[in-house]
Amino acid sequence: MQTIVLATNNNHKVIEMSRFFEKFFPGKFEIITMKQAGFTGEIIEDAGTFEGNAHKKASAVCKATGLIAIADDSGLEVDYLGGRPGIYSARYAGEGCSDSDNIDKLLKELEGVPMEKRTARFVSVISACYPDGRSIQARGVCEGVILTERRGSGSFGYDPVFYFPPLGKTFAELPIEIKNNVSHRGNALKQFAMIFRY
Ligand code: IMP
Repeated sequence: MQTIVLATNNNHKVIEMSRFFEKFFPGKFEIITMKQAGFTGEIIEDAGTFEGNAHKKASAVCKATGLIAIADDSGLEVDYLGGRPGIYSARYAGEGCSDSDNIDKLLKELEGVPMEKRTARFVSVISACYPDGRSIQARGVCEGVILTERRGSGSFGYDPVFYFPPLGKTFAELPIEIKNNVSHRGNALKQFAMIFRY
């Protein structure tokens, strides 16, 4: 069985990506985290784009471990805010802030903004780097609306305020398999699965 290392410390991403690999490539891979692979270095996400940051993470972990490394760089683009927080989604409310701090800041910035102007999308770019120097990438998006208050308690990040109209629920109200079916990360991974050679 081939080992793949996920270049992230985000447990939610690990769970979503591991489930995806089990479903699309049953029994083919052993998925480990970069921590399990012994990687404890810091990767500065300063490339300025989802694509650049995803590649930077996968490349650093691939070089350090000698294994195929896969990274996701993702975020939320809110139209009313000109695409913010975008690549800064994780630290929108400041260095070391929590998911809840980020949501509070977002809701404050959208205070009084009517529903029809609260459109947004999640974006995910998945990168894989191979020990022989090759790399591949896929991008996925998911369109939604930012609610005025939280709904649901599952999942992470901005999920409690990201309403997905086709299912009439926020991402935090959806079981992980359903979220994976429609989400930005799920869409990126489906594209990724078509070009992934191992
Ligand atoms: P990254 O680790 O730099 O890619 O940061 C991604 C950030 O975007 C996360 O910390 C969340 O704030 C947000 N984000 C990305 N994907 C999701 C998702 O599926 N649900 C909720 N928030 C997400």
